[in-house]
Amino acid sequence: MPEAATTEFWKHLKPIAEVFKPDAGHDVYMSDVAEAEDKYFVPFSETVSSRPLWIAPSQNKWCDVLMAKEAGLVNRHYHPHEVFAYTISGKWGYLEHDWTATAGDFIYESPGEGHTLVAYDHPDPMRVFFIVTGPLLWLDDEGKVEGSFDVHDYIKLCREHYDKVGLGSDMIDKLIR
Ligand code: FE
Repeated sequence: MPEAATTEFWKHLKPIAEVFKPDAGHDVYMSDVAEAEDKYFVPFSETVSSRPLWIAPSQNKWCDVLMAKEAGLVNRHYHPHEVFAYTISGKWGYLEHDWTATAGDFIYESPGEGHTLVAYDHPDPMRVFFIVTGPLLWLDDEGKVEGSFDVHDYIKLCREHYDKVGLGSDMIDKLIR
């Protein structure tokens, strides 16, 4: 049960008795994820870091909070699959689009899109919740693929960082579904 109801109309409702099917996985609950200490954010580029929240190797997919404390850059890359984003704070955009996102803004990025992510200097850090399906394909100046980054690279990056800062790489195991 979550916190007990007091005045809410649903206070007499009973929770479902059989919550999980026998072969179901476990839920994830993490509080206040975007405001965590810096050590939870894994450097992703020189100026942008990522807090992993949920990682699914079988789908090459992950959820994270992307953060930049000041102007930031994730260099040009191509997505063969979709990406969803919800802006928590700060200001960011892609050089390739005419919108600029601030707190509350939702973005859907269609499969087959290349872009360059930029974060602006702003009183609040850029914090964006992303649902990413990998891989990201890094592009050179001419738009040719020069490298890739998928869920396995993400897991490796996160494990190495969490080990280095003393959180332990097994914290990443808890996020894998
Ligand atoms: Fe992207």
